[in-house]
Amino acid sequence: MVTATRLRDDIDEIMPGLIADRRYLHENPELGFQEFNTAKFVSGRLQALGVEDIRTGINKTGVTAMVRGTVDGPGKNRVVLVRADMDALPIHEENDVEYKSRNDGVMHACGHDAHTAILLGLARTLIDRRDQFAGTVKLLFQPSEELFPGGAKGMIEEGALEDPHVDASIALHMAQQRPLGVITIAAGPILAAPDAFKITLQGKGGHAARPQAAIDPIVIGAQIVNALQTVVSRNVDPIESCVVTVAYFNAGAAFNVIPDVASIGGTVRTLTADVQDLAEKRVTDLVQGIADAGGATVEIEYTRGYPATVNDPGMAALIREAATTVVGAENVIAGPPSMGGEDYAYFLLDRPGAMFQVGSKNEERGLIWGHHHPRFDIDEASLAIGLETMTLSVLTYLERGLPE
Ligand code: MN
Repeated sequence: MVTATRLRDDIDEIMPGLIADRRYLHENPELGFQEFNTAKFVSGRLQALGVEDIRTGINKTGVTAMVRGTVDGPGKNRVVLVRADMDALPIHEENDVEYKSRNDGVMHACGHDAHTAILLGLARTLIDRRDQFAGTVKLLFQPSEELFPGGAKGMIEEGALEDPHVDASIALHMAQQRPLGVITIAAGPILAAPDAFKITLQGKGGHAARPQAAIDPIVIGAQIVNALQTVVSRNVDPIESCVVTVAYFNAGAAFNVIPDVASIGGTVRTLTADVQDLAEKRVTDLVQGIADAGGATVEIEYTRGYPATVNDPGMAALIREAATTVVGAENVIAGPPSMGGEDYAYFLLDRPGAMFQVGSKNEERGLIWGHHHPRFDIDEASLAIGLETMTLSVLTYLERGLPE
């Protein structure tokens, strides 16, 4: 069994390299499916470490590689996948730091630079311990988490969960809403399925003073916006979670014209398939019914986004144990689910696994800005906490498998 003390000492030793990697990635951010330089950097690092079976160009820019333990133990046939996302966001960085983005208008504002650096760090901690564990760790660096349809699904379709067959997976995410030193891990749904709807309401335009001759898509649209609020309040079981947000409503341009068309769009967030189905049906029925009643024709485009991210209880328990060793029981919290979405969900559809979150906020140092904010920046001490927890989780899984 790995001893936690030695692991921590080793991680302290490699931290300067980890921070340098994270800063390099932060300085050189790339948008989804354009992570060519990032992928090159990653595979170069893996090569230098002596990691086996490096495969590149999976779903455009994805990279996988293998670290095999040399112990002939009971876990020798287990394969666990660890996933990091590599993409940045179309945001202009407003931080004044030496590692500020050099790619104008593109920024690592969600911490994927940290995820990638930590996974490279994991390659290092595992390579250094090959003679201390049985089993295989598959490292997976994926493109485009931020940009639908995401990079995960395509990598799985190209076989990322086979050859060798992956038994389980683990991922982590920085959590800028939580202080440094806190780890969040919960069983069950932790992130929502982010679906999208787009409504085109075709009325009949005309003179603003002659409504009797027109079909006003603004009035009908307003009724739709209000009615959609009843999906959550009147249809969904109050014990369940659901968000229906109308994010835009565009119609008209002049004070004396009833417009011809209105377009309305937004998102529906749910944690279970039942509520997801119910919400889609109610949104669609309400929109169609109200449009009909008003005499407008309507086109509804309803798009299912990523699935909900559902943590396996056994893997969550195993990670909780690792996290407790790293930050102490009082700093490991179960945390409520968030209604954000994540395409790591695809890895969990038919293999058990879990994602944990690593607190990275530091108020004293002014590192308080949230994900996707132009001043987002993490406390880099979270890199060590994430890496230690990940290394322990991986080694514990390989040694014991999932608890019954
Ligand atoms: Mn993210």
